[in-house]
Amino acid sequence: MSDGEAFDFRIDYIISVIEDTDAKVVGLQFPEGFKRRSPGIASRIEDETGVTVFISGNPCFGACDLDVALLNDVDILFHFGHAHLDDNKISQKVYFIETRSAVDVNDVVELAASKLEGRRIGLITTVQHVHKLDDAVKVLEQHGKQCVICPGDSKIAYPGQVLGCNFSAARNADCDEYLFIGSGQFHPLGVSLAMKKRVLIADPFVNELREADYSKVLRQRSAVIAKSLDAEVFGIVVSSKPGQERMELAMELKRMAKAHGKDAHILTMDLVTPDQLLQFKVDAFVNTACPRLAIDEVGRFHAPMLTPLEFEIVLGEREWEDLYFDEITGE
Ligand code: SF4
Repeated sequence: MSDGEAFDFRIDYIISVIEDTDAKVVGLQFPEGFKRRSPGIASRIEDETGVTVFISGNPCFGACDLDVALLNDVDILFHFGHAHLDDNKISQKVYFIETRSAVDVNDVVELAASKLEGRRIGLITTVQHVHKLDDAVKVLEQHGKQCVICPGDSKIAYPGQVLGCNFSAARNADCDEYLFIGSGQFHPLGVSLAMKKRVLIADPFVNELREADYSKVLRQRSAVIAKSLDAEVFGIVVSSKPGQERMELAMELKRMAKAHGKDAHILTMDLVTPDQLLQFKVDAFVNTACPRLAIDEVGRFHAPMLTPLEFEIVLGEREWEDLYFDEITGE
């Protein structure tokens, strides 16, 4: 199955929105995995509606990552691949096309049923499969399991949905273990570390099961913390992206650093990359932007990149045992 068939880009809906709003200039923003589909989708929209389409070429990793500059140049913006965040209420011009998966989950959930050890199963997934959770419930109930699917906080659009920076839907689920439906590693690792419970990953694209094992990530994080223990000068990174900006937290961390006799400077930027930070000669960075950054890009920065929780451990304000993935939570 090609990704064109596996995911629903909702072109007919997009065309109806354009006609209803009488938009003349339309922006399209795709996450990295869907960018190669953008020319075909743009051509179809232009051909069928006569609008002018601008495609965002900027990197895009989440709903936190709206192309604000492009938004100023278009009548409406279609953002693909993510559900809205509460921060996105700022603009009525943005339409989220969640790009849901058409892939069937029944077979892989059937496979998972025999490997799940607990009775109460917390079901979690990304927005791509959130509409398939009811199918998963039916399969698991046939195997005598009780399923728990909980709403998250205000950052979370659907019950059972998790983001790489928000596991609140999992945290709210009173269960023995979790079943994550999806293909990524990061979300189930974060949930298993946050909840200290087993998370089984059911990947419907390849029909495979695996268990989330955070031991390697924990070893990497311990090494990053250990390298930062003697640091005297810290760069606290703040992103200006609407859903990632945490200046208040950065200011609090800076105050904490000063109270411990350390030097700390707030570095503001849009996209945070190893190259972007190369010229800042600090002993360690603290990342308040996308929480995935420090974990996914480990070893690529020229100085250790800590999460805010790890920074607290470095300063002696938090115990090593209380190490979790950083989250951006809502209300
Ligand atoms: S901050 Fe990171 S993990 Fe959270 S939605 Fe944005 S890209 Fe995803």
